[in-house]
Amino acid sequence: MIDTHAHIRKGEEIRIEGLDWVVLSGPNMAESKDNVEIAKMNPKLRAAVGIHPQELDSGNIDKNINELDKILDENPDIVAVGECGLDFSENPLKSPFDKRDFQEMERLFRGQIALSLKHKKPLIVHSRKAMEETLEILGSYKNLRGVIHCYSGGKKRVQKVLDLPGEWYFGIDGNLTYEDGLAEVVKLIPKDRLLLETDSPELTPLPFRGEKNYPEYVKYIYQKVAKIWQMSLKETEKIIDENAKKLFGV
Ligand SMILES: [Zn+2]
Repeated sequence: MIDTHAHIRKGEEIRIEGLDWVVLSGPNMAESKDNVEIAKMNPKLRAAVGIHPQELDSGNIDKNINELDKILDENPDIVAVGECGLDFSENPLKSPFDKRDFQEMERLFRGQIALSLKHKKPLIVHSRKAMEETLEILGSYKNLRGVIHCYSGGKKRVQKVLDLPGEWYFGIDGNLTYEDGLAEVVKLIPKDRLLLETDSPELTPLPFRGEKNYPEYVKYIYQKVAKIWQMSLKETEKIIDENAKKLFGV
């Protein structure tokens, strides 16, 4: 089993029992650097580096992109660029939201897309309340590959994601264990395009909902998918892990 999206802070307890590997998503410069460092100490942890749209640092977009570029140059073991994208939900770090934020978010996003292409690493895309705009930007590139992390585009946008140029996967999280609507979405996603992720420490699946999340809880999401697919856990695991290996090249 593989958790394709988790956040583990330096010095934090690492709970990955039963997992083959875990992708550490990069939400900002500091944690991206930490990811690279943490991954060097544990072969089951794989680093991604990137900047989340709500963590954008207005005056330093170009500087940050250059710095990510350098980190990618120096660390060929990095498995992905991200998480990056658009987020139009209210920003607890900076409100209210205005148009300028969108332009800067887009610039930060496109900067990371360019890094994904340059370094031939898949993109981890974060999109909240901005799926149409995100798809429009992704659709303007030819050879991108990546995952729409914590996919929230509903049934109606599954086909739109599949129609994007390049190769796109859907990242599904612990809310699948308690949201019936999301189970309906999963039924529409081709089996060879599904990835499972915890986004730990957030989004804890049943039966631990409400508590802190850990990568090893990804097994509850696998179990739920096995039920939806009406397949054994073993067969389900094989298909999903193949997808993760293919996208991240691990
Ligand atoms: Zn994340």
